[in-house]
Amino acid sequence: MKETVTGMVLSAMPVGEYDLRLLLLTKERGKITAFASGAKRTNSPYRAGSRPFSFGSFEVLAGRNAYKLVGMNISNYFEGLLKEIEDTYLAFYCLEIADYYGREGIDGSESLNLLYATFRALERNQISKKLIKSIYELKSLAINGEQAAVGSCYSCGEEEGTFAMDLPARVIYCSHCAPRVSRPMIPLSKTVLYALRYVTYMPIGKLYHFQLKEEEEKNFNDLANRLFTGVVHKDFKSLGMLESLL
Ligand SMILES: [Zn+2]
Repeated sequence: MKETVTGMVLSAMPVGEYDLRLLLLTKERGKITAFASGAKRTNSPYRAGSRPFSFGSFEVLAGRNAYKLVGMNISNYFEGLLKEIEDTYLAFYCLEIADYYGREGIDGSESLNLLYATFRALERNQISKKLIKSIYELKSLAINGEQAAVGSCYSCGEEEGTFAMDLPARVIYCSHCAPRVSRPMIPLSKTVLYALRYVTYMPIGKLYHFQLKEEEEKNFNDLANRLFTGVVHKDFKSLGMLESLL
């Protein structure tokens, strides 16, 4: 049966001489594989839309192990991401993370919205790319239920005041409780805590609407990186190159 899904191309693998195996992140079906027959031919209607980053609606037929692509209507190719190599690698890194968390049969709307909002932010080019990377990593943790509990003190529930983070446990303690917990803690400035809470709890549409001063951004990025790599143990292909560029 034919169905139409909204999604983005995560990757395209050649199969034989002319076909492509597309990995799509879709709102309705999560991550699915769709075979695009003849998509590598120069006159194929699927050629342009089979590139990674292509976003739109895809018509697919369910097969036994995979879907067959029978139509597409691309609304955004995100070609702007190809203008600067930092943007391209950062966007590929985001796709790899979406692929890492993606499963068939789950609701993919939040991951898809996050990719879309992140790529728009990269194209707008108004906030630092390192900050965009950190926000994407932290929000990926949050929408997959692996965020740090930054709302209140893990011990007493206090929400106001000065806090420090127990990084491996991904919880925070207030200044009253922190000394009683004999674990190494990372002090959090008010700004860094505010940014952590903002990214964790704000809707995706509002994520890329803040900037930080240089020193605060550096601390925030370091913390985001340690939180993310503490949870996600995977060597992403694009990361080595990305880190040498940013
Ligand atoms: Zn406390």
